[in-house]
Amino acid sequence: MDTVMTITAYGKNSEKAVTLAKKEIENLDKLLSIENKDSEIYKLNHSKSQNLSADTLAIIKKATDIARLSDGAFDITTEPLTRAWGFYSDTENKIPDKAEINTLLKSVGTEHIKISNTTVTLDKATSIDLGGIAKGYTASKVSNIMSENNISSAIISLGGNVTAVGKKPDGTLWNVSIADPDDSSKQIGTLSVTDCSVVTSGGYQRYFEQGGVRYHHIIDPKTGVPSKSGLKSVTIVSTDDTLADALSTAIFVMGIKKATDLYKNNTALFDMVLVTDKGEIYITNGLENCFSSQRNYEVIKP
Ligand code: AMP
Ligand code: MG
Repeated sequence: MDTVMTITAYGKNSEKAVTLAKKEIENLDKLLSIENKDSEIYKLNHSKSQNLSADTLAIIKKATDIARLSDGAFDITTEPLTRAWGFYSDTENKIPDKAEINTLLKSVGTEHIKISNTTVTLDKATSIDLGGIAKGYTASKVSNIMSENNISSAIISLGGNVTAVGKKPDGTLWNVSIADPDDSSKQIGTLSVTDCSVVTSGGYQRYFEQGGVRYHHIIDPKTGVPSKSGLKSVTIVSTDDTLADALSTAIFVMGIKKATDLYKNNTALFDMVLVTDKGEIYITNGLENCFSSQRNYEVIKP
């Protein structure tokens, strides 16, 4: 998954649980990697039809649900666009020309994915990339491993995805800081949480610059170019680890207005912290008692 992962667990079975978690992560990475020729995703993208394991199938199904929920802002079929912009490891970053983007956009959209039992079939020019959701799914599996091993205190950090299991060994809440998108060595605030995921997506995480313009790695599936929604970073808090990951990517594309509407219709599903291009901070109602910050912020009410 091309990132640094840290799992810290406390208690009697902690060593066993962390060993099992590491194995699970390695298994999922083998299934989901976009560049590893033996992965299910690589095989699916190259053969366009593939019988899939329960895990890969579950992620693809959830990704298509979240595509619907986000009105297409989250879309795993952006793969050819991400490749054209050179965001995979074997390619150089570049700005594709308009004609190329327009051609690629024709194969983007979850209507190009067909699922029949355990077989997924893609339209000829369609490929998928689970980079915006795989870490969240992995976090949910690791979190399950912790419960199965009676771990009541653990913190799982999978590159930008943090999942809190129970409370700290001293019985207090876990503190997860949110990076300042202008200087990720600093923070804009802290969330005190238990039993949930805290996931951040931001244009500062992966990008290149050309002609004084910054091009980041989250593509708007409607335009084929890096999203320009007016947000610098999005942090999602949810008990659904997979949803938290996909929604952080989706809401980064959607912008504050659409995100607010989505929140008002789904207050039970998630909460969020948004940082706008102007540096304003917004948090949703459900985080009022767990967010602390030295900066000013506004609260979005349902
Ligand atoms: P995240 O870091 O979770 O926000 O995910 C970003 C990654 O998801 C990118 O590096 C791409 O692999 C993929 N991606 C880019 N744009 C989208 C999109 N609009 N919907 C779903 N996945 C995307
Ligand atoms: Mg994501």
